[in-house]
Amino acid sequence: MRRAAWLAAGAAPGLWGAYTWGSHLLTLASVWRGPRGRRAVSLTFDDGPDPEWTPRVLDVLEREGVRGAFFLIGQRARKAPEVARRIALAGHDLGNHTWSHPSLWRCGPDHTGREMGDGHAAIADAAGAPPRFFRPPWGKTNLAMFGVARRLDTPCVFWTVQPEGRRPVEPGEQARWGMARARPGAIYDLHDADGVPGAGARLVEYLPALVAGLRAQGYALVPLRDLL
Ligand SMILES: [Zn+2]
Repeated sequence: MRRAAWLAAGAAPGLWGAYTWGSHLLTLASVWRGPRGRRAVSLTFDDGPDPEWTPRVLDVLEREGVRGAFFLIGQRARKAPEVARRIALAGHDLGNHTWSHPSLWRCGPDHTGREMGDGHAAIADAAGAPPRFFRPPWGKTNLAMFGVARRLDTPCVFWTVQPEGRRPVEPGEQARWGMARARPGAIYDLHDADGVPGAGARLVEYLPALVAGLRAQGYALVPLRDLL
């Protein structure tokens, strides 16, 4: 149900605030990083698969011998199933990033269930393997999301380091930011598709430098399932 309909159904704005902003208290129990005891980090990639940029990111990762995690948008996976399949075959973890990348602050419980369930099914269908993890778009949560994630058996994974937020950041700056904030157990949130316009192109440009810089600091780059 859409927000307006939900409100019209009698939910007061205060309840909506508890359902959306209030739910962020529950993220305190979610995954934001791996254990601190091992010098390892994990690279995660949101918003793909992109038919142009994701294969080029996969080429870099293959060349460098790195496996990460891709949080896919269901409707993009349906349009580029060969790219989703390649991600799975290369041994990267799959994550669900919803069907159409809405803000969950604008989704009532039924709408949230559809966004997460349809995304999960489309990714499993395109990639040939079900997603292991879930990440909400922009990190925005609602109360219904946690129950759906449990039902789909996809733990909610946020991030420790995000080199590019909602505005474009030039590639060199993203690489420097990422290297400076390295710490044991860090989960990197990178973007192999728009979202922010040009994100995939910038990532392809700086990813080799980020990988090299992290390794020079003694970090192993491991799949998300191994980090956690
Ligand atoms: Zn996203």
